Amino acid sequence: METRSRAPKIKRTKRLTLKDRLSRLTYHRACQLLGPDGPHMIRRGATYQDIDLDRDVYFRGDLFRLKLRGAARGKDPVVTITLMAPARNRLRFNCTACETLCEHVGAAFSLVLEEKTALGLAAEPEERRPLETLSPKELVEQALRDREEAEAMLADASARREAALAEAQALLSGAKDEAARLAAAAEAEAKSTAERRERMAMDRIAAAEKAAVDEVRLTAADIAGVAAGQVIRKELTAADDAALIDRAIGGLAGALGHRAA
Ligand SMILES: [Zn+2]
Repeated sequence: METRSRAPKIKRTKRLTLKDRLSRLTYHRACQLLGPDGPHMIRRGATYQDIDLDRDVYFRGDLFRLKLRGAARGKDPVVTITLMAPARNRLRFNCTACETLCEHVGAAFSLVLEEKTALGLAAEPEERRPLETLSPKELVEQALRDREEAEAMLADASARREAALAEAQALLSGAKDEAARLAAAAEAEAKSTAERRERMAMDRIAAAEKAAVDEVRLTAADIAGVAAGQVIRKELTAADDAALIDRAIGGLAGALGHRAA
């Protein structure tokens, strides 16, 4: 929220420096500037913990530069934030490692938003005069300005929280969908495996049954054949000729073979 009541005290927009711009940068504005992926990239960027302000940040004149050590393979990404041509008066950002908006740029904006005091971007103290030197009218004005500032900060914090919440919910819902999909796939796989195993078991049982039946039939035929041969030989040996015996045995074996088939 740019405060119109402060207009006389702030520089005209045209002459705002990068420091002025970054001092006034709110989360909401950063998101507007970065576009639809802004909130996500700022949150991703906020996870970069190894930033040493003295070592990794260069901030002079109209150049803000942040080096992210070890943030990518190869050369460390360097993010710069500058002002566009004065007429446009907009922040321009760039990352040496990426073609499009990236979490490195998000890290730079997150840093600016989180570390205003450390970066020398906190509200200019020279604007504030000691309260005891203010007239009643000035006191009221100061109080109004303070309230506006507090409201702006609150609105910004709410926007950040809501964006984070929305993203968390989207992630959660995505995770739920994925879990449901995986569960369905696992169930289908388990079912098809069970069916395949059952089929294989049935096949094996059928094969074993057939083998057992075949074995019994063969054994029965053998026993019957031998027993019949013994009986015939015993009863007919004395009286009958070899041709009769052979014919009888041949017929019996044929009958048994037919039954066993
Ligand atoms: Zn990048």
